Amino acid sequence: MNNDLTDRYSTHIVKNQAALPIDFNAFEGDVVLKAAIEREAPWANSRCSDLGKLAGDQHVQELARLANRHIPELQTHDRFGNRVDWVDLHPAWHELMGLAWKHEVPNLSWRTDQKHPHYARSVLSYLWNQVEQGTGCPTGMAYASYAGFSAEPALKIWLEKSLGTSYENNREEVAKKSSVVIGYAMTEKQGGSDLRETITTAQFSHSDQYHGATAYWYELTGHKWFCSVPQSDGFFTLAKVDGEVTCFFLPRTLPDGTYNRFFIQRLKEKAGNRSNASSEIEMSGTLAIRVGEEGSGIKEILSHSHLTRLDFAVGSAGLMRQTLSLALNHTCTRSGFGSSLAKRPMMINVLADMAVEVEACTLLALRVAKATDYLDVDPVQKAFARVTTPMAKFFNCSRVVAVANEALQCHGGNGFVEDGPMARLFRESPLNSVWEGAANMMCMDVRRAMTKDPMCRESLFKEFEDIRGEDIRFDAYLLAIEPLLDECLTNEFLARPATEAMARSIQGAELLRHSTPEVIDTFMKTRLGGGPGNWGVMFGSLGSSVSQKQADSIVERAQMQP
Ligand SMILES: Cc1cc2nc3c(=O)[nH]c(=O)nc-3n(C[C@H](O)[C@H](O)[C@H](O)COP(=O)(O)OP(=O)(O)OC[C@H]3O[C@@H](n4cnc5c(N)ncnc54)[C@H](O)[C@@H]3O)c2cc1C
Repeated sequence: MNNDLTDRYSTHIVKNQAALPIDFNAFEGDVVLKAAIEREAPWANSRCSDLGKLAGDQHVQELARLANRHIPELQTHDRFGNRVDWVDLHPAWHELMGLAWKHEVPNLSWRTDQKHPHYARSVLSYLWNQVEQGTGCPTGMAYASYAGFSAEPALKIWLEKSLGTSYENNREEVAKKSSVVIGYAMTEKQGGSDLRETITTAQFSHSDQYHGATAYWYELTGHKWFCSVPQSDGFFTLAKVDGEVTCFFLPRTLPDGTYNRFFIQRLKEKAGNRSNASSEIEMSGTLAIRVGEEGSGIKEILSHSHLTRLDFAVGSAGLMRQTLSLALNHTCTRSGFGSSLAKRPMMINVLADMAVEVEACTLLALRVAKATDYLDVDPVQKAFARVTTPMAKFFNCSRVVAVANEALQCHGGNGFVEDGPMARLFRESPLNSVWEGAANMMCMDVRRAMTKDPMCRESLFKEFEDIRGEDIRFDAYLLAIEPLLDECLTNEFLARPATEAMARSIQGAELLRHSTPEVIDTFMKTRLGGGPGNWGVMFGSLGSSVSQKQADSIVERAQMQP
């Protein structure tokens, strides 16, 4: 064979492409996360380490790619024309679900009696969101569903099964299952944010013994415009009884083993989150068990929302961390203009600026998770969790889009191509800010919480008692936000700036407690209004008050440690 000819027909030599981002542990290698668990829940260390390894595992990354490439297919009927209303998912999806359940991502907080169970479970979720985000939807809903099951005696069997750790993809009746997958179907065509506009109706059917307790069954008629994971074992949903919104739980398989009337009309074609099926459904004479009192449906469903919202604040922080890790990997292992990209001064500015943002958002989410651990025992922490959960969801889920965008930029053209994970993560990034209450709704909720319960505002300022006096820039910021919070109570127009300012203040406090002088100084100078030239609206606009040496040390801290 003539070598010249072979060369002519062979592809170009591949050089100066970034290294594959594999063989790292997203927990052990993350200085911020590791310290957080050691501080608050050291008992969960080995669980987090086992899960962190999956994020850097090449096979698991391939599962994530496959599950998003081979998207769910709706099966409305079987070959004989019977309705089946089921979804075919790629085996990679089921393998990922199996891993999530095995590693207790949906339910660690409910399975342990150790200290700070919600905190520890949040770290698992943070890590899982660096594995695959589509499956993060069912893990988050399963986490929240426990709160709903524990409030309704007729759902005791579901409570028990929600603690299971071995995932099953089948349509068995709940008693025969070792674990369950749960969905939420609230949003209708005419209103997602304003659930009072629900037009699905429910009529009492009968009461019956259901796995050892009395259940009140109703027949539901209506539709839901969004219903994710329609192959779940059961759903919380809303319908009106005599004009009043009421909460229900709808098992897909009825006690006699027959399938409930739950008609999947079509699957949504989505910008991201493509591994996960999201559907439109029709209910007609569908049997569902009433949860709580007639007319208290919105209150009931909002009591679960606290947990899903926390989970999205945590999940978006995890997604930010994943995009930062990818950006670091890419820029450190690809060169340009004579050095690795990560060594170019402007790139250092970008990476350091992103790293500060990711650390601040991570600590914010984990602080809210910790407050959630005290809901039943500490009224101040309860009020703090009440007001900071929608705040953290607003902030982190909105902010992740900018971080993902900048991380994509760091990859150059490769970031926009589906061969690698970056493009998928970018498409995923806006979703958490839409579902489970869009951004404005979160700020409205922050305002509502402070208006209804003065303790919410008080709990915020109590939070800063131990660190006032440590940094004059932080103290000045706290003084400045007080009038803004007051004004926002009487002026809805200010709900967003007030919520953002509160989020920044909690981030500042958490960084003062747990971060390095370089990160703290940069945060105070840039995020808390340090004046012109100190920071802009883009990442990479750390001003002259932050030295490159300081930025270097911030980037070093953010590197995945070996
Ligand atoms: C991929 C995906 C999956 C989903 N899965 C589910 C699911 O499983 N179950 C489910 O129930 N829902 C699901 N949803 C629906 C989601 O929860 C809703 O889209 C969301 O709550 C917003 O409702 P909406 O789409 O009706 O928007 P709207 O309520 O029309 O809101 C549109 C915009 O207006 C803003 N807005 C509304 N009212 C006000 C106001 N008073 N002041 C200022 N701004 C306002 C909102 O913040 C939002 O930005 C899913 C959505 C997506 C995208």
